[in-house]
Amino acid sequence: MRAWKVISHEEIVLEEMKPKALSEGQVKVKLNYSLITHSDILAFESNIQPEPKIIGRLGVGMVSETHESVTNFVRGDRVLVSPYFVCKECFECENDNEHLCSNLKILSENTDGVLSDFVNITERQLIKLPENVSDNDAVFIEYVAHALNIFSKLKVQKGEHVVIVGANCEGMLCAHLALYYQAVPILIDTRADRLQKASEDGVYYAINSAEDDISSKILKATGGRMAEKAIITSYHDAHFLRVLKFVQKNARCVFGMLGKNEAAIDVSVPLKNFNVIIEKSLSVYGVPDGFRHLVSAINLLANKSVKIKNLITKEVGFSEVDKVIAELKKTQDRFVGAIVKF
Ligand SMILES: [Zn+2]
Repeated sequence: MRAWKVISHEEIVLEEMKPKALSEGQVKVKLNYSLITHSDILAFESNIQPEPKIIGRLGVGMVSETHESVTNFVRGDRVLVSPYFVCKECFECENDNEHLCSNLKILSENTDGVLSDFVNITERQLIKLPENVSDNDAVFIEYVAHALNIFSKLKVQKGEHVVIVGANCEGMLCAHLALYYQAVPILIDTRADRLQKASEDGVYYAINSAEDDISSKILKATGGRMAEKAIITSYHDAHFLRVLKFVQKNARCVFGMLGKNEAAIDVSVPLKNFNVIIEKSLSVYGVPDGFRHLVSAINLLANKSVKIKNLITKEVGFSEVDKVIAELKKTQDRFVGAIVKF
């Protein structure tokens, strides 16, 4: 068994390990595809209490062995490994609120991930994949689920305008979902190539914030009213304040980003941002995961209601993970989809 392990600050090795016997309720999965995510790059960069940790937040593979106690899976099942591991013991878990689990573990963030040729994992963390969802679409399921969670907070209505800051995986999928709900996405980014991809996927308002006057474009797109909804997919003071200007009174704004930056504890939010929130009576939400929407996300992919093709920026081999992480770390491409084929 071989796994990519971060052993200290910006040091990653492909470690050879002895195969482990399965414990009760566990399934052995042979990984076929994974995705390098923001969480993996944050784990690589982290210099806070570095503990050796296998990275890899998302994985798709095939069941190769099951413990005798396992009843829901058999050898050969194609599965998604969910990034969320709940304790089943806390107050929230016992009251059917597993997404609020006080001891929630997320692969690659605070527990070992799946960038490993084989993983032993509890069957509770596996979801069977239908035939019509391909492996490389399936590694984006958490992103789709996260976008669904964002829209569950936005409560978007047909014809409404949704400003989306960031043409990364999260932002592009939110734009697809806005179209799915018959709303009008207005996607903002500085990268012309990403905006071009979004246009190919049917996003009419793809605004380049490095070149265009965003406010006047949004004013025009919304008939002078500004947007009813906004989604901010990466944290930045400038993004925050600007997006608050792009929405109308009473708007709903969601901060949605997968992968928590432990080093960002000192980020301050300028008072002027709060003034805008109060003056405009804005509702502001945070959406950190897609926990409760994984199955709906699989259905959306099965129905081809969201498009994955343009999210994939590169496909790399399992042996190239270290090089690709070092490369992505330097660029904004850390927020886009590099898929790993085993
Ligand atoms: Zn719990």
